[in-house]
Amino acid sequence: MTQSDKVTTRFAPSPSGHLHLGHAYSAKLNYEFAKKHGGEFIIRIEDIDHLRCKPEYENAIYEDLGWLGLSWPTPVRRQSEHFDVYADALAKLDEMGLLYPCFCTRRDIRNEIEDSSRAPHLGPKMGPEGIIYPRICKKLTSAEKRQKLDDGIPHAMRLDLEKAMALVQEPLYWTDLGSGKQIADPALLGDVVLARKDFPTSYHLSVVVDDHIQGITHVIRGQDLYYASHFHRLLQFLLGLDTPTYDHHPLLTTPDGNRLAKRDKSITIKSIRESGISPDQIDDLIQEYL
Ligand code: GLU
Repeated sequence: MTQSDKVTTRFAPSPSGHLHLGHAYSAKLNYEFAKKHGGEFIIRIEDIDHLRCKPEYENAIYEDLGWLGLSWPTPVRRQSEHFDVYADALAKLDEMGLLYPCFCTRRDIRNEIEDSSRAPHLGPKMGPEGIIYPRICKKLTSAEKRQKLDDGIPHAMRLDLEKAMALVQEPLYWTDLGSGKQIADPALLGDVVLARKDFPTSYHLSVVVDDHIQGITHVIRGQDLYYASHFHRLLQFLLGLDTPTYDHHPLLTTPDGNRLAKRDKSITIKSIRESGISPDQIDDLIQEYL
């Protein structure tokens, strides 16, 4: 970020359910940070997954955030309207020779993991986000790959982490508001899917492209995306995109220690509104779950 950059933050929900109190916390942190620095707060709708996202949830997002007292410029960027932009980024990585098609089903991956657990020294590696893809399709010969493509077997596209990391000459880092300089370790996530079988991009690819295009200077989001940031830093390097400053805030939890989830109907912003709580009581309510 240069001195002249205006602080720009974003709240980027997926309209796949109603927002909950944790979203209110995240949106308010972004909003208040932007206001404090004379900057701009924007909303981005992350709706690449057409099977899970619904227009009524998008409308509910605007209603909930408006009720919280937030305002934002319109029109709002919807990722589903920019598949061409993500396709260009994907093509760039492909031209660099950094992608490979992955034909695996969940079952293929499960079988591979079961097999390798019989030979634990060859076994799958666990990352902080679960099992790291055991690179089954990376081992296919060109002929095997060609055959599967010709047969029209659905495939995702994965980043070849080994090849990508060979391009990294010095450590990649980012600044985290809470914890300072962070050295990115993209290997934590392995060969991540950048274009899914059912749609031609992924959360990881779209988010770094959009944060760059929209001039986001500060990405303030939940701790659950901390490991994703390690991978996002690599994508920024490979695609020549800006690296924002990050902040990973704590997640709200229920009294029994579980993370709030979209399925927890009782603490959606909608249900909070309907229970007669007023927006100026939200901060106190958030504190109860922090
Ligand atoms: N769309 C993501 C979500 O709803 C958030 C993405 C981000 O903040 O980077 O969890």
